Amino acid sequence: MSHEMEIIRLRKELAEYSRRCFNRGLVSGTGGNLSVRVPGTDTALITPTGISLGDIDPEINLLMKIDGTLIENPCGLKPSKETAFHLAVYQIRPEAGAVAHVHPPYATAYSNVAERLPMVTVSAQGVLKEVPRIESAMAGSKELYEFVKAGLLKYPAAKVLLMKEHGTLAIGADLKQSYYLTDLTEDTAKIAFIASQIKAG
Ligand code: 13P
Ligand code: ZN
Repeated sequence: MSHEMEIIRLRKELAEYSRRCFNRGLVSGTGGNLSVRVPGTDTALITPTGISLGDIDPEINLLMKIDGTLIENPCGLKPSKETAFHLAVYQIRPEAGAVAHVHPPYATAYSNVAERLPMVTVSAQGVLKEVPRIESAMAGSKELYEFVKAGLLKYPAAKVLLMKEHGTLAIGADLKQSYYLTDLTEDTAKIAFIASQIKAG
């Protein structure tokens, strides 16, 4: 596949997984942002700011170098306000192929009250292993970017981070994996919550 065809394919895949996140209730309103590295390059596609993940079309995504230089912006939109922490993931973790940042209700609720997500199922223990929390700062801020970077360095084995009072950040080899990791994280949080409400007989 030519480089241009590969980018067209990834634009479509980024739209598809953004919509899946929205339709699965992992984020609401105009929250959340996803990105994908163009394999074998120092470039990545990222969703624009202020557009619902349920409305992402392939051509509105922006192509950037991981140093922050804009390469392709067919619709003239602004990149996500969290672009800096997405690009930091690709810089810090060479194996990272895609990043999903969303606001799933159960996982976000745990981010408010716990320093890590309880690993209450064998799937969580086997796949996620640990989901530690990073500190809270305003969305799109330099401070939040610094907290993400510090979390990536502090927890090198973590594929998912809880972001206090905010949401989740999942790092996968590709978009499908970062979506599945987020999906499993949210279900784990939901099961942990339900189990906490059931009185043992
Ligand atoms: P963007 O619309 O700029 O991607 O921001 C959404 C979000 O979730 C901020 O944390
Ligand atoms: Zn957010």
